[in-house]
Amino acid sequence: MLDREMPLSIIEAWLREDNDKELERLWEEADYVRKETVGNEVHLRGLIEISNFCARKCAYCGINANNRSVERYRMSEQEIFDCVAKAVALGYGTVVLQAGEDFGIGREWMAEVIREIKMTTDLAVTLSLGERSRMDFREWRLAGADRYLLRFETSDSDLFTLIHPSLPGKPTDRIRDLYVLKDLGYEIGSGVMVGIPGQSWSMLANDLALFRELDLDMIGLGPYIEHPATLLAKIRPQLLRKDHQQVPGSELAVYKVLALTRIMAPEANIPSTTALGTLDKKNGRELGLMRGANVIMPNITPSEYRERYEIYPDKANWSETAGGSSEWIEEKLKNMNRSLGKGVGSRVRRQPV
Ligand code: SAH
Repeated sequence: MLDREMPLSIIEAWLREDNDKELERLWEEADYVRKETVGNEVHLRGLIEISNFCARKCAYCGINANNRSVERYRMSEQEIFDCVAKAVALGYGTVVLQAGEDFGIGREWMAEVIREIKMTTDLAVTLSLGERSRMDFREWRLAGADRYLLRFETSDSDLFTLIHPSLPGKPTDRIRDLYVLKDLGYEIGSGVMVGIPGQSWSMLANDLALFRELDLDMIGLGPYIEHPATLLAKIRPQLLRKDHQQVPGSELAVYKVLALTRIMAPEANIPSTTALGTLDKKNGRELGLMRGANVIMPNITPSEYRERYEIYPDKANWSETAGGSSEWIEEKLKNMNRSLGKGVGSRVRRQPV
């Protein structure tokens, strides 16, 4: 059985599947559902990493607050606008403004940046700035922000608490935040890392069921890639499961999650992520697009900052190859019978809410 309403036991069985013939069926079904619901268009979102300051001590992330060797930066308004102009010139429909959880990014300052982008371009604006207050979310939505990305990373609360400690006096609850964002009228995006030390197949099956339940507009998935300057790098041996339950951070595991995600959340916009491209520089992004994904997020952060936004080592980048021009990407897409998305590429609803 391979459909939207799959029960947990079936999801887990598919996640553990390693028979090539069966997996071929999974890829085909995911590609079919992708084609029937979101079509052949691939949307481009220009990723701008606007700051690498971070208040958090996430055990997986290279720019965590404990990592003293990171040279911190915060882009100026002008630098952000220059990147936005680049996104327009390259023919993208959306900019994604991402950062560490940086409280040096003030509510008003950010609102002004968003207003300026919305007033001067036709771009959709996606934010990925971590867990901020409802007031911040509200103000930025009123300023014109369209979408918000906040991965819940894992639906297992013990593992999550371990790898994503709360800030003092402010218990983390990303699921609640996602509902707040949805309520404010954002399109909401979430997702997980695949292969976190301590992550089991049954946890991952629960993650997929939660995607379905949250009715996400966007879902981002990638392999967990170890960064040496993190707590997880230190305690991995203790965390790894020894009961044949440990999920590997392999390319194959990510494709399985990607394909199942498309089948269970057919209308979602799903990027073929940078982390996937990092594991397999040659084919990762393309295979992602053939197994459920319909979005690419070229990184347009200026290179001097990009290298300092090292959430994991050796981040891949398609845009390096040809400056990220949409013509170049379009050529690549044509070979896969896919076309460049027009407009901002919002979620398309096929079924009445
Ligand atoms: N501060 C924002 C943006 C974080 S970076 C936030 O916390 O939401 C975006 C995503 O990168 C994270 O949500 C996480 O899923 C992913 N990421 C971070 N470290 C990673 C690692 N070591 N390997 C793979 N993905 C990682």
